[in-house]
Amino acid sequence: MGAENAAVILRSASKAIAFTGAGISTASGIPDFRGPKGLWKTYPEEFASINYLSDDPRGFWEFYSTRMGSIFTAAPNLGHLALADLERLGIIKVVITQNIDGLHGLAGSRNVIELHGNMRRCYCSKCGAPYSSSEVLRMIGSGTNPPLCTCGGVIRPDVVLFGEEVKMMPKAISAANSSDCVLVVGSSLTVSPANSIPYLVKQHGGRLIIVNEERTPFDEIADLVIGGAAEDVLGELVAFMANRV
Ligand code: NAD
Repeated sequence: MGAENAAVILRSASKAIAFTGAGISTASGIPDFRGPKGLWKTYPEEFASINYLSDDPRGFWEFYSTRMGSIFTAAPNLGHLALADLERLGIIKVVITQNIDGLHGLAGSRNVIELHGNMRRCYCSKCGAPYSSSEVLRMIGSGTNPPLCTCGGVIRPDVVLFGEEVKMMPKAISAANSSDCVLVVGSSLTVSPANSIPYLVKQHGGRLIIVNEERTPFDEIADLVIGGAAEDVLGELVAFMANRV
């Protein structure tokens, strides 16, 4: 019933956007942060901070390389594929994601704003030279930790670490300001400033649909809350939209 109601709301929107979080990728084998099996139940949040990278680059990479390695075996799931389908159908205009796994792009979504960067890329923190993550993982695997650039600088992932500015926010805010409906998928909606994006859409009169396995602090202001697995709900949603659009 939930997916059918979401289809009704999306059908009446002219500029719908999607806002996704780690929950859309758990079915691809990438753990979220705050769900029941979340990463922060095992590690302290500070491990993914700019301070930790500066103070102890070797320790940072010991933690981060394992995380980075896990994305190379992950493939898009039905949730990512469904959002790409909704874009092809002209229903979703932009996907704004907090995820750094690059799976929306691999699923075929074309208009993606990666708020927190992309773990498949790295760069030198001193000269900015780009490195692929697989190259960096090879360096670490062969005993070079921290991985160093030819200029001597420490190589870092191309992601927004805790304590850093979210440089893509203005672009995401502009997409939210021109949107009349936001479909939130798999986010605890507790990470700021990213969680201001769905709020902005709601604030100027747009509709808010939330698909998440757990309750979120935004459920009370949402037009529709669907408690369930993203990969199931979005699959059903596409079926409704494709048949009747
Ligand atoms: P979060 O971990 O705070 O919340 C994820 C939410 O998704 C939880 O409420 C959980 O109940 C729900 N969930 C888990 N599996 C689900 C499923 N199959 N279907 C529906 N809901 C499901 O994640 P967040 O809100 O994205 O914020 C965490 C931050 O973590 C982001 O900044 C992001 O950059 C980063 N992160 C990214 C990845 C990734 O790239 N895949 C993974 C972990 C964390």
